[in-house]
Amino acid sequence: MGALDTSKFGNGSEVARAYIPRPPSAGVLCLGIEGTAHTVGVGIVDEKARVLANVYDMVRPEKGGIHPREAANHHAELVVPMIRKAADVAGVALRDVDVVAFSQGPGLGPCLRTVATAARALALSIDAPIVGVNHCVAHLEIGRAVTDAEDPVLLYVSGGNTQVIAFARGRYRVFGETLDIGVGNMLDKFARETGHGFPGGPILERAATEGGSLLPLPYSVKGMDVAFSGLLTAALQLHRKGERFEDVAFSIQEVAFAMLCEVTERAMAHVEKDEVLLGGGVARNQRLQGMVDRMARDRDARMFVPPAELCIDNGAMIAWTGLLMHKAGVRMSVEDTVVDQRFRTDEVDAVWR
Ligand code: AMP
Ligand code: MG
Repeated sequence: MGALDTSKFGNGSEVARAYIPRPPSAGVLCLGIEGTAHTVGVGIVDEKARVLANVYDMVRPEKGGIHPREAANHHAELVVPMIRKAADVAGVALRDVDVVAFSQGPGLGPCLRTVATAARALALSIDAPIVGVNHCVAHLEIGRAVTDAEDPVLLYVSGGNTQVIAFARGRYRVFGETLDIGVGNMLDKFARETGHGFPGGPILERAATEGGSLLPLPYSVKGMDVAFSGLLTAALQLHRKGERFEDVAFSIQEVAFAMLCEVTERAMAHVEKDEVLLGGGVARNQRLQGMVDRMARDRDARMFVPPAELCIDNGAMIAWTGLLMHKAGVRMSVEDTVVDQRFRTDEVDAVWR
């Protein structure tokens, strides 16, 4: 496979990837479109969970946070060229796609509606069935597909979401979650408000390696849940008082990730599972991986981390979950494809498991 021209995508473009260039397609092919928040992505997977294409592009606002309408416009502009690009990368014609899947929620209304519209149009034009996929469940399913994890507790840590999810009695259930903002948003806000750009997670991770003094920050675990806005306010205050950015970054990571480890460990003990899977953009963080791995080893459990491009929001995870649903007999009429901004993880009947 040659170098890919991603120049027509926006400034946040990641390279389109195919793990296996132009393989003979195996069984059902599903094309999935992701677009719950800042990222629009299109993935194509086959029945063996081979990711034939996974292209995506993230909105990077120059100033301030993500504006839902602006993000939706970005997705609207890119989704069609991305569908074509994904088909190119996978080496398949769109008419070879058997199922079209899309992210039905949870997420930002305008973004969800944009990708749902694109998915409906594609499904109608190639006469393929359409399935709406829960974004959080998709993070877990792609992790199970591409790692050796079989029945893990998922620590899903992204920009807008922070949840501890596990399968119990036919559904994915949320055992703990953030009571206010997602951990990624907290990192992003701290970086932005201290003038360090976006996304904040990788910026803080780099800075933290130069820090080392653990400053006091509120550790806020309530039962199985966590909260980050108090920590954000306190971190901003420390920075304003003149503490080094590197030390504050280090302290934010230590405290926030310890909170996440605590609730994840409690969920693992509660549901008696000995696997932990990471998902979401923050799962790329080496310090978080190190802490979760240590916690897992201490209790004779194992940690799994999918490749980075499957940790962040991506179309391949939507495609794979849509394929599982389709194979299990899930069929949706166009009326069933209405998006749901507050689509709960435990609303999904996981009939494929
Ligand atoms: P997602 O919403 O799952 O696409 O992930 C995006 C979030 O992941 C943003 O909030 C980023 O700041 C965060 N992120 C990306 N890379 C890292 C990293 N290395 N460490 C911490 N957070 C990260
Ligand atoms: Mg996500």
